[in-house]
Amino acid sequence: MDLKQYVTIVENWPKEGIKFKDITTLMDNGNAYRYATDQIVEYAKEKGIDLIVGPEARGFIIGCPVAYALGVGFAPVRKPGKLPRETIKKEYGLEYGKDALTIHKDAIKPGQRVLITDDLLATGGTIEATIKLVEELGGIVAGCAFLIELTYLDGRDKLEGYEVLTLMQY
Ligand code: AMP
Repeated sequence: MDLKQYVTIVENWPKEGIKFKDITTLMDNGNAYRYATDQIVEYAKEKGIDLIVGPEARGFIIGCPVAYALGVGFAPVRKPGKLPRETIKKEYGLEYGKDALTIHKDAIKPGQRVLITDDLLATGGTIEATIKLVEELGGIVAGCAFLIELTYLDGRDKLEGYEVLTLMQY
């Protein structure tokens, strides 16, 4: 299936010069959403995954159906102040300034094989911070899966040494 036909490219959003890849039109289509999910499920089966971890909010949309299909758990990574219990935190650089991501301290058991999911790999900052959170808790990052990779932003350079699956490249 050619998944790209279901992605809507929105020019100059959220700001001038950005070509936003809107995946809501892919999720809207049951066949396309299932097909994309199935590709990631097959990848996860090869990697022997124990747990899925995804950053808010689109990492949940991609990761949760994969976790359900595999019968494994899902642990959310969220912006500070959203998770109710004890968390660990990693800061990461944005185009302007800084942001941070958190995860519950007990979300991962040491040695668990983790698949990290998100909708899109851009600069890789989000996923790099997510990897650090997983590893700090003793998880093994067995793979990272995305619907979309923006190859011109070289996010893969930050993921050297990690297994990466992307279903569409721009
Ligand atoms: P990064 O940390 O730079 O890899 O950015 C990753 C996050 O930013 C992804 O989770 C996307 O949701 C979002 N993002 C960045 N660039 C785009 C884009 N051109 N279209 C849609 N989402 C984007």
